[in-house]
Amino acid sequence: MGASPLLEAIDVSKIYPRPRNDVIALDGVSLCVERGSFLAIMGPSGSGKSTLLNLLGCLDTPTSGRILLDGEDVAGLDDRIASRLRNRRIGFLFQSFNLIPQMNVVENIEAALLYSNRPQREWRARALASLERLELLERASHRPAELSGGEAQRVALARALVNEPDILLADEPTGNLDSRAGGNVLDLLLELRDQGRTIVLITHDDTVAHRAERIMELNDGKWVGTRIPGSVAS
Ligand code: ADP
Ligand code: MG
Repeated sequence: MGASPLLEAIDVSKIYPRPRNDVIALDGVSLCVERGSFLAIMGPSGSGKSTLLNLLGCLDTPTSGRILLDGEDVAGLDDRIASRLRNRRIGFLFQSFNLIPQMNVVENIEAALLYSNRPQREWRARALASLERLELLERASHRPAELSGGEAQRVALARALVNEPDILLADEPTGNLDSRAGGNVLDLLLELRDQGRTIVLITHDDTVAHRAERIMELNDGKWVGTRIPGSVAS
């Protein structure tokens, strides 16, 4: 595969058109995510963090600039190809878990297999295996409303992992959790990184960010710096 970074943003801008004044959510941002690394993105509310993560995850396309996955430009892919790529390569975690309330836990995970190429007869077993990996098997038939926040985020992680993506993009995944549950989710992400997955995580929490290898800071849609956390005892 050569030495190219896994994910790259090159001079990316994103403008949301508005009738009166367009919103410049990102303004010429570049970044490079190495395979198997853990990057944290920080910045005040409204600084463009979620917009950047959505572009990296092919959920949206930049107004200008390029997004490269394995050196290949993904910015201009058509929706069907982009969603297949997302499904195969990328898992997402969100602050509010984004589980479907009408479905039980195992059905929520199966829903992530809908657009995979895997035969339907394998879905249940795969979903259960993913739950088991996160020690949630006994929650399989529960509804999301019956879960604690920490459990809900672990279900979301089981869903994110069911297609075995090599990239995890997490938008403030510990933002709605108490410190114990948040620490637990962070430990799981670090474990996944140690197994070779690549993680990009948005956080407001300095202690979370300091577990990453690099911290990128955004302000007002612009890159304002990158820090390497000192070797902190964990
Ligand atoms: P952050 O995640 O850092 O809080 P966002 O990426 O969500 O920031 O938003 C960056 C800017 O873009 C904000 O000013 C926000 O209001 C605006 N924005 C985000 N999404 C949209 C959208 N879909 N339409 C219009 N403006 C948006
Ligand atoms: Mg955000």
